[in-house]
Amino acid sequence: MKRKKIVAGNWKMNMTLDDSIELSNALININKSNVDVMIAPSFTNLYPLKKHFDTHQIDVIAQNVNQNSKGAFTGEVSVEMLKSIGVNCVIIGHSERRSLFGETDQILFEKVNYATSNDMNVIFCFGEELQQRQNGNYFDIIQQQLEIGVLSLPSELIKKVTLAYEPVWAIGTGVTANPDQIQEIHQFIRNLIHQRFDETISNSIRILYGGSVKSTNAVEIFNLADVDGGLIGGASLKFADFQSIVEAADV
Ligand code: PEP
Repeated sequence: MKRKKIVAGNWKMNMTLDDSIELSNALININKSNVDVMIAPSFTNLYPLKKHFDTHQIDVIAQNVNQNSKGAFTGEVSVEMLKSIGVNCVIIGHSERRSLFGETDQILFEKVNYATSNDMNVIFCFGEELQQRQNGNYFDIIQQQLEIGVLSLPSELIKKVTLAYEPVWAIGTGVTANPDQIQEIHQFIRNLIHQRFDETISNSIRILYGGSVKSTNAVEIFNLADVDGGLIGGASLKFADFQSIVEAADV
């Protein structure tokens, strides 16, 4: 089955408003006829960029969201707030949220469940750490992250989820998982989705790879049978690099 690819740039805690507008002005000109392009700026830049890209086929998405609808949660942002400015998709479970901010599989499930139940699309990230890869138990780790995070959702909600396999040892390190390692995991994930849901869902769910995707390796990675695009960190901050990566997915 042909699935439309996604290239999503996670800007993390980078870029002032002026920097964001400057990069956005360049991104508008990227040729992107058959790929869904998304960028995830900081909360403060979501609204201005949402307006900026309104008619330019670049989706502005959030990097995080709280699992509650409102209340005494200082510093947090709700699904309702994101939707009120037209943001309809959020990244949940990034390894930095897990390791630096203590977000557990259970908290992440609550976030995914609340967001999807309230009509928000989710890019759900997961992946093993270096030690787990070296120990050889990475299949179990990935299965557990998925079982708790998304596999208990009902079918109508899993349709709002895009998966992003991001081996932690490849994020921001310049080390990319090799094509065999990537395809092996993506196929494993698609099989898990098939077992839990059905063939239609497993054939249509998009599974992104993230971890040091660059202009020089994007074509090879995006050509893998079960890879449906990428979640891009460092390279999404540089126009020429991001442009090449989008072009590699625009097939
Ligand atoms: C990420 O942080 O999701 C990521 C993939 O980063 P990088 O592309 O820099 O490895």
